[in-house]
Amino acid sequence: MKSKRVAIIGAGPSGLAQMRAFQSAREKGEEIPEIVCFEKQSNWGGLWNYTWRTGLDERGEPVHSSMYRYLWSNGPKEGLEFADYTFDEHFGQEIASYPPRAVLFDYIEGRVLKAGIRDWIRFNTPVRFVRYNESDGTFTVTAHDQIKDTTYEETFDHVICASGHFSTPNVPYYEGFEGFNGRILHAHDFRDAREFRDKDLLILGSSYSAEDIGSQCWKYGAKSITVAYRNAPMGFAWPDNWEEVPALVRVDGNTAYFKDGSSRQVDAIILCTGYQHFFNFLPDDLRLKTANRLAAADLYKGVVFVKNTKMFYLGMQDQWFTFNMFDAQAWWVRDAILGKIAIPEDRSVLEKDVEERVALEDAGGGDASHAIKYQGDYIKELIAETDYPSFDVDGACEAFYAWKKHKKEDIMGFRNKSYRSVMTGKVSPAHHTPWKDALDDSLEAYLQRTPSESRDAEVISLHKQRAAAGA
Ligand code: FAD
Ligand code: NAP
Repeated sequence: MKSKRVAIIGAGPSGLAQMRAFQSAREKGEEIPEIVCFEKQSNWGGLWNYTWRTGLDERGEPVHSSMYRYLWSNGPKEGLEFADYTFDEHFGQEIASYPPRAVLFDYIEGRVLKAGIRDWIRFNTPVRFVRYNESDGTFTVTAHDQIKDTTYEETFDHVICASGHFSTPNVPYYEGFEGFNGRILHAHDFRDAREFRDKDLLILGSSYSAEDIGSQCWKYGAKSITVAYRNAPMGFAWPDNWEEVPALVRVDGNTAYFKDGSSRQVDAIILCTGYQHFFNFLPDDLRLKTANRLAAADLYKGVVFVKNTKMFYLGMQDQWFTFNMFDAQAWWVRDAILGKIAIPEDRSVLEKDVEERVALEDAGGGDASHAIKYQGDYIKELIAETDYPSFDVDGACEAFYAWKKHKKEDIMGFRNKSYRSVMTGKVSPAHHTPWKDALDDSLEAYLQRTPSESRDAEVISLHKQRAAAGA
């Protein structure tokens, strides 16, 4: 086993889960292969590694992160908690259910710092290409060491692609965009809601980015939010200055025209139109081509590439569950590589598995509760086959069902709710400040038990304005 080499592409939550899975086997005295993780950024955390940059990074690579200032978890932390490393263990205190980005980054980092796997990662090293060698069944990985500015090749027995799929934007065109008198940007490049203070905003899309970026902009003082949906509206009870309208048809100057014949003046357009599975470092025979869905195409057990079973993909599904689902996948892939789990050799068996997963997802007809249970059952299926600590997945699904209900009841207030951890059995405390008033989202502000004056002058001024308006 020691002579085997495994390449992991990406040190985001999925790639880190994979390294933790191997490290936990080593901790138990098992022999593990040599692990090399290639990470194009200078730090770990994937999307959670926030940057102010947009477009290209300091070395000319496309910026990976799509996260923004003031992003808070959009689902309860009780749905994503690691079974082997609880929030209580990490923070040494109980924290509320919807942590901001910096708090979740700290939590993700805490587990891998404890595991001591940082020296398995080659930072500033994008993978440029992967080739499968039919002659000896190995992979050649071409990587770029950006510090030395040299490109080199190495050979591996397995490749695990954990490069994420919410980074390369899907950018549609609408008539008149080239003549729009304002800023048009994709959610991937959105960083700071304050940019849109006092502005009339148009948002395209009706999924999580549309909901959350609109909510951020509302919270930080946008004048009005118009969301144009292509198929169906989100349908929440929005604040007074927020409206959902049918699809955009065209823009002319600053006027946006919609499918129902209505029009309005807008200052900026944010395209919350989703992302592409984009792997420009993979050849046709290794490249996953899938829609953003729970049963991803061509992945046996959701992780083994059916066209080459030595190649694995992590985290390629659309996501209700995240961190603990990546763990379930990582532990399963580890055991497949360690030879404890057999992957069928007959390709038709692999394809049948994928077909059945697709059919089961489709049977739900897009119903959210069905989708949550579907993904929960998938996690149960995987962890039953490994030594990942068993946890009450149905209990975690309950947190998601309650979350959906809380959003329906109060879209700007659901983040004030608390849920029970299925790992510790404890219900989280309420946060000291309601989400809509919590303008300082720093780790320090979140962890303290009572609100205090923010150090941020603009945040203080917004607080004062709101107090004066009696909001
Ligand atoms: P990523 O986090 O995307 O990490 C992939 C890693 O691969 C990156 O570090 C990248 O630099 C690296 N990489 C890519 N290409 C290469 C290459 N060629 N060579 C080397 N390295 C490469 N989930 C939640 O649970 N809660 C949330 O609140 C939440 N909020 C989100 C908000 C936004 C705006 C988005 C877009 C997603 C959010 N998610 C959230 C979902 C998110 O997908 C997961 O939390 C998680 O980050 C996925 O982890 P990953 O490792 O699969 O991918
Ligand atoms: P998404 O869920 O894939 O949704 C894409 C949206 O774009 C859909 O509503 C789709 O419309 C619409 N769309 C696609 N092409 C379009 C076009 N040509 N014209 C108009 N609309 C178009 O992507 P997302 O909303 O960016 O979410 C991605 C991930 O980020 C999710 O996992 C989410 O949880 C995460 N996220 C989290 C937070 C947070 O935690 N705070 C914030 C933002 C995002 P149809 O519905 O009509 O297909």
